[in-house]
Amino acid sequence: MADQANTAPKRKARKAHEATVTGRRQLSPDLVRLSLNSPDFVGQELEFTDHYIKLLFVPEGADYAWPFDAAQVREEQPRDKQPITRTYTIFNLNSETGDFEADFVTHGDSGLAGPWGRDVEVGAKIGFFGPGGKWEPEASYDHFVFAGDESAAPAISAGLARLPEGATATAYIEIESEDRTFEIPTGEGIDIQWVYRNGATHGTELSRIVRGAGVPEGKKTSWFVHGVAEMIKEMRRFLFVESEIPREDVSISGYWRIGMTEDQWQSSKQEFNAEIEAEEERLSTR
Ligand SMILES: Cc1cc2nc3c(=O)[nH]c(=O)nc-3n(C[C@H](O)[C@H](O)[C@H](O)COP(=O)(O)OP(=O)(O)OC[C@H]3O[C@@H](n4cnc5c(N)ncnc54)[C@H](O)[C@@H]3O)c2cc1C
Repeated sequence: MADQANTAPKRKARKAHEATVTGRRQLSPDLVRLSLNSPDFVGQELEFTDHYIKLLFVPEGADYAWPFDAAQVREEQPRDKQPITRTYTIFNLNSETGDFEADFVTHGDSGLAGPWGRDVEVGAKIGFFGPGGKWEPEASYDHFVFAGDESAAPAISAGLARLPEGATATAYIEIESEDRTFEIPTGEGIDIQWVYRNGATHGTELSRIVRGAGVPEGKKTSWFVHGVAEMIKEMRRFLFVESEIPREDVSISGYWRIGMTEDQWQSSKQEFNAEIEAEEERLSTR
């Protein structure tokens, strides 16, 4: 095995943390909420509303299991036996206890994290990297538009729960059908618009509805748009090319891509974004 080892590109080794599953609740047929605890989160405040962690899955056939030393695994294991990461939004952190929550889209038997979230039992432990994050609803805006599919619903919920005083929001959340809604923060000034796929490709209905609603008039608006990559492409065109929204007013990214694992999506994301940007540039200068 020695000749296969050390083939992973050299990067600073990150420390992996441990989370224990302390509860599990079905939010809708497509979404399961896990309660988790990590002692490493005690004393930490989460500044943003789109905080995420990278769960570490050990590849099939690897000769190690959690708990492991991430730096040692990085040094010793061949590339195809390195831990596989999956990104999940975290919210409701209690910095005194280290308790937090994460919602998993259950998208059938494919993949690692979806089936894990669906089937995991209370008491299970998993390693993770993070947290990362960079967006929160800023007080300089008076209106917020959120748009996303189920994968972005946790970050949308966290954003809605932290709206600045007096701000209003419209949240467009795409789900499969009317009977698959789930709990989401509501309150004065919050308008929740469920968008139903009813068998359509992920993201197509959401793009259609958000585009059809147009840009709110007379309000300084911030946009938070995340979810399936194909929808992001449409929404970027709507926001940046057709509506000429300033980039600093928009947080937009693909959380996953149809037919790709997260690894495949992450390694092709830069190229995907570069192609979209080149097309936007071409359309804007026509
Ligand atoms: C910053 C960030 C935050 C995220 N937060 C969350 C979150 O809170 N909850 C959440 O569920 N996801 C979230 N995601 C998306 C999640 O990381 C991906 O969906 C990931 O691909 C799931 O891994 P997997 O092992 O289940 O499936 P993979 O092995 O990555 O993929 C297997 C197959 O499932 C398909 N697939 C993947 N995700 C979905 C989906 N949502 N619906 C339908 N088909 C899918 C893929 O296209 C592929 O064909 C987030 C992503 C990012 C970048």
